[in-house]
Amino acid sequence: MDILFFDPCLKDVVWGGNKLRDEFHYEGAGDSTGECWGISAHKNGDGKIKNGTYSGMTLSALYRDHRELFGNITAEEFPLLVKIIDAKADLSIQVHPDDAYVKEHEDCPFGKTECWYIMDCPENATLVIGHHAKTRQELADMIHEDRYEELIKQLPVKKGDFIQIVPGTVHAIKGGFTILETQQSSDITYRVYDYKRLVDGKERPLHVKQSIDVITVPDESGEKALVSTEGMKKDAMNLLIACEFYKVWKMEVETSVNVEQKYPFLLGSVLDGCGRVNEYELKKGDHFMIPSDYGNVKFEGNMELILSTV
Ligand code: ZN
Repeated sequence: MDILFFDPCLKDVVWGGNKLRDEFHYEGAGDSTGECWGISAHKNGDGKIKNGTYSGMTLSALYRDHRELFGNITAEEFPLLVKIIDAKADLSIQVHPDDAYVKEHEDCPFGKTECWYIMDCPENATLVIGHHAKTRQELADMIHEDRYEELIKQLPVKKGDFIQIVPGTVHAIKGGFTILETQQSSDITYRVYDYKRLVDGKERPLHVKQSIDVITVPDESGEKALVSTEGMKKDAMNLLIACEFYKVWKMEVETSVNVEQKYPFLLGSVLDGCGRVNEYELKKGDHFMIPSDYGNVKFEGNMELILSTV
């Protein structure tokens, strides 16, 4: 059985930067590549396997035809999406719906719970997480009257922080941030505000009605969304979150780590450094999946990874 490596899908966007080309050396990345979908079976970026028996096959096809590699889980589509985001400019202020809302209003099986590991950000940076409206009426008024400075909450963050964003949370990544995002496999996003930015001469559409529908009021995000990874154990899997959709770990390898693959599947992304997993070489920017029943794996080298499963 192989550990499967993926060819990422790259996305050029208005707010994208050049790190995915210059630091991660992804083939085809340019000056405004904002997202690298490293592990994805989503229809808007279905990643291909690049080694072994299933080389050339998309992750969605592999999930459809070889469910045994995924521990025979029953989700109708491969449930997770892992991406690296490099923002040169601010992203729109947005909110995501939950599973129940998308089933009623969108043609998509999953809502979007997501989490971010901050790989890089400016000194004294903040992210937009949450809002100050006390009632849905006040929320609607502040949105209709363009009072965004008053509406949004700013959360101070630093490199190495980890943040869980549940559906209904107003949020935005800002320019200067590089993050590893683990999320439900969904791209349903409601844009609350886009800083009056013009794209090809016009403002991108806002989803005011849907936003007012799905934003949690009063806000429940608060500081409880944030986990600091400072001082976490080296050469160990450190659990960052376990929620109903995923489990995510940070692992900093200094010498070696033995991992028992007891999960339906285990996803990995190398954020920095290089090393090996069993007989496979690993380097910064690699994304891979260790299938169900693979057995024990040994990570060696000097590198930082984010791992996840359902
Ligand atoms: Zn989001």
